[in-house]
Amino acid sequence: MSAAIDREILTPALRSDPYFTGGIFPDAPLAPRTTIRIGGTAALLVEPDTVTALEACVRVLRALEAPFFILGGGSNIVFPDGPLDRVVVSVSALSAISLESAANTAVPYGSMPDKAITNGTAADGAAPGAMVLHCGAGCPTDEAADFCLAHNLAGLESFTAIPGTIGGAVYMNARCYDHQISDVLEWVDHFPGVGGGGGSPNPLPRPWAPLRLCVGNPSGHSGWSYKKSPFQPSGSCGGDVILGAAFRVRVGADPERAAWCRADREARGHFRLPSAGSVFKNSRLAGKPSGQLVDQAGLKGAVSGGAQIAPWHGNIIVNTGGATAADVRALVALAKEAVRKNTGVTLEEEIVFV
Ligand SMILES: Cc1cc2nc3c(=O)[nH]c(=O)nc-3n(C[C@H](O)[C@H](O)[C@H](O)COP(=O)(O)OP(=O)(O)OC[C@H]3O[C@@H](n4cnc5c(N)ncnc54)[C@H](O)[C@@H]3O)c2cc1C
Repeated sequence: MSAAIDREILTPALRSDPYFTGGIFPDAPLAPRTTIRIGGTAALLVEPDTVTALEACVRVLRALEAPFFILGGGSNIVFPDGPLDRVVVSVSALSAISLESAANTAVPYGSMPDKAITNGTAADGAAPGAMVLHCGAGCPTDEAADFCLAHNLAGLESFTAIPGTIGGAVYMNARCYDHQISDVLEWVDHFPGVGGGGGSPNPLPRPWAPLRLCVGNPSGHSGWSYKKSPFQPSGSCGGDVILGAAFRVRVGADPERAAWCRADREARGHFRLPSAGSVFKNSRLAGKPSGQLVDQAGLKGAVSGGAQIAPWHGNIIVNTGGATAADVRALVALAKEAVRKNTGVTLEEEIVFV
């Protein structure tokens, strides 16, 4: 085991930090924490149970120079088959959802009218208008969408039934049915995970205050595009830890649209077998969805060990039983090479190989 992730050092360091609370799990199996059910073990998996504990955890890991990986719902990742050389930090406990009045918030609002509605009820005389739905990073995205439906709030219908968490959806700038998360984002709370804060390992004063990236204010933020967010490695917040996000919502949910999105996912076989969602991003250069390119290359149904390109969808690799990361990598390489030969297009992976 690398000295940097020596749990004999890390575990007591975490336990003795006055701000850390939560679970610490040695030799944690990773496959059950992913939707594709692939992965070896993490020497250490840490599950902080509050935002403050998450901050403490990252602070300790950074101070001890222990490399770490932030895990959301595990729905877009493939862990390696053997031991992982990073501490896994799960944000799943940070799952709170709350509804805030626009008037109570401290940031400027872009397109939001200033008539506020609180607790899901229109204030007297207020036009049906905007509210802010705040979700912890570990909140399952489909729960946030269901919460909106239950409270007659519009804005997240397109994200109905998408696997994963709000933190992961923000990181990946998840896109469903022509809507991307950044379209409805007001702000993201985060703090430096790797090397942020001007190079100082622990730049945040205690008691700490998270940084807030405002997305929906008039100036907006330029780091968002198709499947890209500023939190990805090349972005301005690359390596930062997402703590939570706030979304613009308004009274008047569209339950028919939400039901249609769920039914469409089921009809497309998204949940038939374990998978990590779309394998490749769609490339504009290709003029066709990546799944069609893989299909045209004759690779639907191609098998490597326990992994298979779904016979019903060229852009999904499923785990038919006992698949390994190596199996998935082999199919990805096969599809990329075949599509490149056929069309000249180089497909780009959407799934993250950790
Ligand atoms: C059946 C199926 C259907 C899918 N359909 C879609 C779809 O329609 N559209 C779409 O866009 N995606 C889709 N996906 C992919 C996936 O659901 C989304 O990308 C999801 O938003 C990922 O969230 P997650 O919490 O599972 O992230 P993970 O898979 O856990 O992590 C993904 C990346 O985000 C990073 N990350 C996660 N949380 C944080 C955090 N708090 N702070 C910093 N970094 C973090 C991780 O380090 C990792 O690099 C689908 C997946 C499946 C299995």
